[in-house]
Amino acid sequence: MRIAMISEHASPLAVLGGEDAGGQNTHVAELSAALVAAGHEVRVYTRRDAVDLPVTVRSPDGYDVVHVPAGPAEPVAKDALLPHMRAFGRWLVDRWRAGDWAPEVIHAHFWMSGLAALAAGRRTGVPVVQTYHALGTVKRRHQGAQDTSPPRRVGYELQLGRSVDRVVAQCQDEVGELVRMGVPRSRMTVVPSGVNLATFAPLGPAAERTPGRARILSVGRLVERKGFADVVRAMPLVPDAECVIVGGPPEGLLETDPHARRLRALAESCGVIDRVTLVGAVPREEMGRWYRSADVLVAAPWYEPFGLTPLEAMACGVPVVGSAVGGLTDTVLDGVTGDLVPARDPRALGAAIRRLLDDRIRRFAYATAARDRARRSYSWAATAERLAEVYHEVAALRPATGVVA
Ligand code: UDP
Repeated sequence: MRIAMISEHASPLAVLGGEDAGGQNTHVAELSAALVAAGHEVRVYTRRDAVDLPVTVRSPDGYDVVHVPAGPAEPVAKDALLPHMRAFGRWLVDRWRAGDWAPEVIHAHFWMSGLAALAAGRRTGVPVVQTYHALGTVKRRHQGAQDTSPPRRVGYELQLGRSVDRVVAQCQDEVGELVRMGVPRSRMTVVPSGVNLATFAPLGPAAERTPGRARILSVGRLVERKGFADVVRAMPLVPDAECVIVGGPPEGLLETDPHARRLRALAESCGVIDRVTLVGAVPREEMGRWYRSADVLVAAPWYEPFGLTPLEAMACGVPVVGSAVGGLTDTVLDGVTGDLVPARDPRALGAAIRRLLDDRIRRFAYATAARDRARRSYSWAATAERLAEVYHEVAALRPATGVVA
């Protein structure tokens, strides 16, 4: 099939770890690559955020990335992009009507992409599949007044859920959230993200270890809701271990990053500064080295729409101690591939980490089960196959005219 991916703020070619670059970028890149490997044609449409970007770039994995002129050709915070979505949608329509390329299905990632996709889909007759990646209702619940999303986000998300041809939820928790919002269950299919099983495998180079110290690894964008502060607060309960945090700005900019400074100050006041290391952003292809160097991956988010990092660690044969929220409650089998604890509870977190680090046999059993589960249930090839079924289903319900001029 000819598949148009819309990912307004998250380019599959971006460097990850920054505030707005994480799981969605990885998801779109890996999914597009897997669809191409399965014989489909994929174009990813993302916003042009620099003047020197060519309109189209062929990725090494065989999909095209198209830079859409919508808003200024410079980085714009995700939460300020809404006014440019109309131009994004119009550009797609013009392009497809001009005979550039005619998609058979549009898959939108994140709600703002959904708005552009729906506008373009309505005018061209192409069906639209929506993956939210994150929901405004959940963000508002946890972040309250600190949530900088546009105020109408939740309303738009509901409207999208009721208007697109299919909603693809990534985990059961998201299904519950969407149903509570008012999106009918019958419009949804659950297809989880995958993990790159070639990059993330138990064997391979590992980052250097500090002799005599167990390693706790935590990975993600340096934002408050990822719960790194709770990991630092748990460290006094885990003596003799070191905590390595990967993500955030590149190493050179870490000194001045406000969140990194707060974490360091917290580590200082908890008396664990000598056991906490901030590494900064690491290129995607180097992530495997970091997972393989760890005894345990700790993921302590307040909420998590899916959470690729626990799955990446599992594929490397690393057990997970995580918050019992969102996608983690599907991917991490509690007591089998890791331990789940309540979110925002450093005591429970510290106790679970300590118990696991003190018990080699349990760690080994979790590691083996984690690797098996990632391999068996979460390959990108399987995700792509299940999504291709969804694409075929929605396309079959439309007249087979493709783009209508
Ligand atoms: N990641 C990376 N380099 C970093 C930090 C993170 O490549 O320095 C990748 C990580 O391997 C994962 C993604 O960014 O693929 C984060 O996805 P996740 O779903 O865990 O979190 P999100 O960013 O979507 O909140």
